[in-house]
Amino acid sequence: MRNLHAILEEFLRNVSTEDSIKVFRGLHNQKNVSEFKLAEDLRLNINTVRNILYSLHAHNLVYSVRKKDKEKGWYIYYWTFNMNYAKELLLKRKNERLKELKHILTEQETKNFFKCPDNHVRAKLEEAMEHDFKCVDCGKLLIEENKEKSIAEIKEEIGLIEKDITEIENFKIEVIEEEAKPNKAKKKAAKKKKIAKKKPKKKIKKKTPQPEKIVKKSKIKPKIKKEHSKGSILKKIKKKVKRLGF
Ligand SMILES: [Zn+2]
Repeated sequence: MRNLHAILEEFLRNVSTEDSIKVFRGLHNQKNVSEFKLAEDLRLNINTVRNILYSLHAHNLVYSVRKKDKEKGWYIYYWTFNMNYAKELLLKRKNERLKELKHILTEQETKNFFKCPDNHVRAKLEEAMEHDFKCVDCGKLLIEENKEKSIAEIKEEIGLIEKDITEIENFKIEVIEEEAKPNKAKKKAAKKKKIAKKKPKKKIKKKTPQPEKIVKKSKIKPKIKKEHSKGSILKKIKKKVKRLGF
C-alpha cells in the first residue's frame, strides 16, 4: 500500500515539475522556510525554486509570509507546505476518479463495445450496427471488445483508489507550530467573548402595528367583498389605520 507521501508526490509531478517533489521534501514538516535557504539546501537555482513555489501556490499547496531583511533592506519570503489542504485536495480528486470509474464499470458490465483491431474506433453496439460493424477510419471489421479484461482492469484501479483514499483519510498531519503566541491568542479569545456578550443585547423591538387594534378597526367596515384577496384587505386596513393616526 502506498503511503500519503507517495500519493502526494505523484500528484505534484502532475501539477508541477519533477523538481516540485524536491521542494515538497525541503518544506515538509517545517514552517516558514526561507526561499534562499530552500534553494541552497536543494542545490537549485533560486528562480527555479520560486517558479515551483508559485505553481504550487496556484494550487493552494503552499503559503508564504514575507519579512524584511534588516541588513539588506529587501523582503524575503518564507514558505510553508499546506498539508491540510493537500490532504483535502487529494481526497477530492481520488473520490472524483472513483465515481468516474464506477460509472465506466456499470457501462462496461451492461453494454457491449466493438472496436477496430487497429484501435481507430470504439463503439457501442448500436453505433457499430449503424456502420455495418466497419471501422469508419480504415474499413476493417470491428471486433467485440474483451469485456472481462477491461472489467478486471477497471476493478483493479478502483481497488487501488479505494486503498489510496483509506490511506489519505487515516493520515495524521503533524502539527508544526512555531513558538506559541499566547498574547495574540488571548486577545482573540477576549474579542470573541466581547462579541458573544454583545449579541444578546441586540434585541430588536419590532414596530409592528398592534394586531388587536387592526381587528377592531376592521370590524367597523364589514362590507368587505368576498373576492378581495387577503392582501388587498390588509392594504385597506393599513390605509385606514394610517388615516386614523395609528
Ligand atoms: Zn480502423
